[in-house]
Amino acid sequence: MISINLQQIKKQIEDTAIKVNRSTDEIKLVAVSKRFPVEKINEAYAAGQTIFGENYIQEMQMKKDLAPPSAIFHFIGHLQSNKAKIAAATCDMIETVDRLKLAKALNNHLQILDKTMDVLIQVNIGNDANKAGVKGSETRDLLIRLNDLPKIRVCGLMTMPPLVENPELSRPHFKNLRILAEKLQKEGLFPAVEKPELSMGMSGDFDIAIEEGATIVRVGTAIFGTRSPVNV
Ligand SMILES: *Cc1c(COP(=O)(O)O)cnc(C)c1O
Repeated sequence: MISINLQQIKKQIEDTAIKVNRSTDEIKLVAVSKRFPVEKINEAYAAGQTIFGENYIQEMQMKKDLAPPSAIFHFIGHLQSNKAKIAAATCDMIETVDRLKLAKALNNHLQILDKTMDVLIQVNIGNDANKAGVKGSETRDLLIRLNDLPKIRVCGLMTMPPLVENPELSRPHFKNLRILAEKLQKEGLFPAVEKPELSMGMSGDFDIAIEEGATIVRVGTAIFGTRSPVNV
């Protein structure tokens, strides 16, 4: 089942990329395995999936210990500064850095580990009161400050637009995130990367996100099915 779902999603990613003249190589699929047992990660891994997304740090830590060593874990949940130590040790990428305090805490722990961390800045591009993330208008300032932290490598931006019924309504938010990233890139504010990553799009709207420039899509339900309401 998981392997068939993965095949279908990859095909959809490919078809969408072709439609808008983009290369499939520049689009990464993060399989959001939150609240699914590690067996599901193993099943997806066996089907060729290498990047997984988790939103609870302890759950990620537990699964990383049990999953194949070369599985890559992106943290996509809200991260408290007091969990920075575990996050620094466990994550391969943190997509949800949205404040300086958290970034400094991560940087301190990374310094001790002598390790560099790839991060994305989570932007609340739709100004949604229910969503985490730095405001679009404050992203530049945060980015400049993060660029001063030697162990933090800012690779791009991430967003989760307001929940809507019609995925077309997310398009303007995806577009705004791309425009913001392009503007910051022109200013030379992403020195660590050639082109900033744009992590946007989930099961219901990843094709629209790709049309608007997504380089990372985070897909859970469409791969693993409906999640249980509680953590594993
Ligand atoms: C759960 C989650 C996803 C995946 O959502 P689906 O609708 O199941 O694809 C993507 N991004 C974030 C930040 C999430 O928390």
